[in-house]
Amino acid sequence: MVKRNDNEPSMTRDEAAKHVADLNKGHKLDGIYEAHGAKFAVSVSPCSWMYPGYGLQVQYRSEDGRAWGYLNNKPLDQKDASCHDVLDLLTKGLTPGPCKKCKERTFYNPNGNRKTYCEQCFVSMLEARFAEEQEKEAALIAAEDENRKKEGYTHRVSAWIHPPRGDDYQVEFYFKGEPTKKDVEAVLRQEKSKRLDDYKVYTL
Ligand SMILES: [Zn+2]
Repeated sequence: MVKRNDNEPSMTRDEAAKHVADLNKGHKLDGIYEAHGAKFAVSVSPCSWMYPGYGLQVQYRSEDGRAWGYLNNKPLDQKDASCHDVLDLLTKGLTPGPCKKCKERTFYNPNGNRKTYCEQCFVSMLEARFAEEQEKEAALIAAEDENRKKEGYTHRVSAWIHPPRGDDYQVEFYFKGEPTKKDVEAVLRQEKSKRLDDYKVYTL
């Protein structure tokens, strides 16, 4: 017998087969809707019918791609939902307005994390922030490399630690002389990483 996690939806074999078929053909409410004078491609999220009591959740995307996200009506079962309910979600859940950055018209969800930015600006800001952080990180490592080199270290290992619990994180450690696989693995084991092969060796 397979032990089932309480959080997992319980499904019979027939239900599972029907679910897969539904996934492939999509939901009857999927389609193009018009709201706020714009067109939106809408698809019902599979969690709406996979999890009992989840309620109706739809993913929407405006025609120009500037508005994207999820809207939901928790008390409403997807089985009882009609296209009017979907329209209702779009009309009530989205606010038309200019994007804070590019000033183009978009539709924002006051409950979403994009605030008043359009999808394009939101993503490009995320990418810019990520690139900036990476650059800062690279500068810090380069400075540390210089210091260690003066102390006689010859190699740096940059590794990802995969702890038994929690998020993976990156670490740097230094060696005098080229480290063997065993040397690196010993350090990773000390750090309690589940994986001992996610690293790169750099010569200083
Ligand atoms: Zn924008």
